[in-house]
Amino acid sequence: PARLRVAPSPTGDPHVGTAYMSLFNLAWARKTGGQFVLRIEDTDRNRYVPESEEQIFSTLRWLDLGWDEGPDVGGPYAPYRQSERLDTYRPFVEQLLADGHAYLCWCSGERLAALRAEQQASKQAVTGYDRLCLGKTREERAALPGFSETPVVRMRIPDDVELTFDDLVRGPVAAPHPDDQVILKADGFPTYHLAVVVDDHLMGITHVVRGEEWISSTPKHALLYRWLGWDVPAFAHMPLLRNTDKSKISKRKNPAARLMWFREQGYLPEALVNFLQLLGYPPADGEQEVSTFDEFVAGFDWSKVNTVGPVFDLDKLNWLNGHYIRALSPERLADAILEHLAFTGAWERPSAEQVRVLRAATPLIQERLVLLSEVPDKIAFLLAADDAIVVADDARASLPENAAEILDAAAAALEDLGEWEHAGIQAALRAALVDGLGVKPKFAFGPLRVAVTGARVSPPLFESMEILGRDATLTRLRALR
Ligand code: ATP
Ligand code: GLU
Repeated sequence: PARLRVAPSPTGDPHVGTAYMSLFNLAWARKTGGQFVLRIEDTDRNRYVPESEEQIFSTLRWLDLGWDEGPDVGGPYAPYRQSERLDTYRPFVEQLLADGHAYLCWCSGERLAALRAEQQASKQAVTGYDRLCLGKTREERAALPGFSETPVVRMRIPDDVELTFDDLVRGPVAAPHPDDQVILKADGFPTYHLAVVVDDHLMGITHVVRGEEWISSTPKHALLYRWLGWDVPAFAHMPLLRNTDKSKISKRKNPAARLMWFREQGYLPEALVNFLQLLGYPPADGEQEVSTFDEFVAGFDWSKVNTVGPVFDLDKLNWLNGHYIRALSPERLADAILEHLAFTGAWERPSAEQVRVLRAATPLIQERLVLLSEVPDKIAFLLAADDAIVVADDARASLPENAAEILDAAAAALEDLGEWEHAGIQAALRAALVDGLGVKPKFAFGPLRVAVTGARVSPPLFESMEILGRDATLTRLRALR
């Protein structure tokens, strides 16, 4: 059984990439009967956002990408939050220093910035830290400019560091030569690079599945594993999601990079999960695009993972959302809509009448619905006060000359109708307008739709009248008259 993890940093709204990485990690954990761990990598105190962790938990749970071990559920390797593990990292830093694999560096931020600027200006082939502190005592270094009181600890990267590694999805991969990476910061926190290796080892992680931007870090991580005498896990670097112009999806540029955006828009979690599956794992010719998480897991194989940046195509997601909307029973769909409207605050505390109308109208709007957030607009005419129906200009312009006659005849027919249900309503109106007045069906019902809904296009008319009730229907027919 494999052990996998997702290790998001709580730096703001969770990134859609966090769900995408979770999905692939979880798939392999389930396929092998292993475990999936959630670890919070909060060692970067400058970018730390307190609400972020809760948002990571709630969005991943919403997607049903739950974890077996994590900060909120505990587990045998707790704590699962790196800021609570500082004492765990320190002995390994001491060991690396004692073995000569790491050294103290007192260079100030100003000196490092100046060094970087100089390297950039002169376009030097070798960039990165120049090892000014390597082999110096504190006193020796303090005598030179750009000295800072509190040192950091750096890895001493050997010249012959192994730069290639085997990737589960890419095969052999070559990374660039790293410079002397900082592993312990002046604030006493480890950097990502040390913490990720120590934690992955101590937590028994067998497969590290993460974004391709970490390929260049993998040789440093492999070195740390070797220096500390540990087995190196397997690596899979997933292709980053891209825009059509091939740039990477980023929270600064794309609203759809925020995981919460999908929830706010009213995508169903099943649709988003299926979409993320397709991006990383495109179906072979003839294979179907719609598949449940369980089907995905059953057929999962690393060799089939995409290595080229998948293009984020929202039309495909919208199509999938429509598919999943129509696959639900009307009752379940109404539940999902209510949950969505409560989440966004659009309907924070719906009245009993709102809930009744929504449940009754759900089967009528299910066929064409793309996003759950569209629902309030689509059913607003069913909830509006009768004198608040605004007739759109194009709808008014569509009324035929004999509209008044049609509306009068319709009102008369419905006034005397027995049971108020849509089949009877339709039959009575047909008898009154088509048979009685001799109006073609195509023209008979348009004015009624405009009167009742205010628009030329609406959910099915007779079912809508049934939901509205007789009084409201008659009031509206007479009002347009
Ligand atoms: P930005 O997207 O604007 O850079 P950010 O700085 O919050 O926002 P990162 O911290 O770089 O994003 O990434 C957060 C997580 O999302 C990381 O695990 C990263 O691998 C993943 N990620 C980032 N961009 C993408 C992408 N385009 N596709 C898939 N995963 C991504
Ligand atoms: N904290 C890192 C991130 O958010 C984790 C990368 C990894 O999985 O190793 O991208």
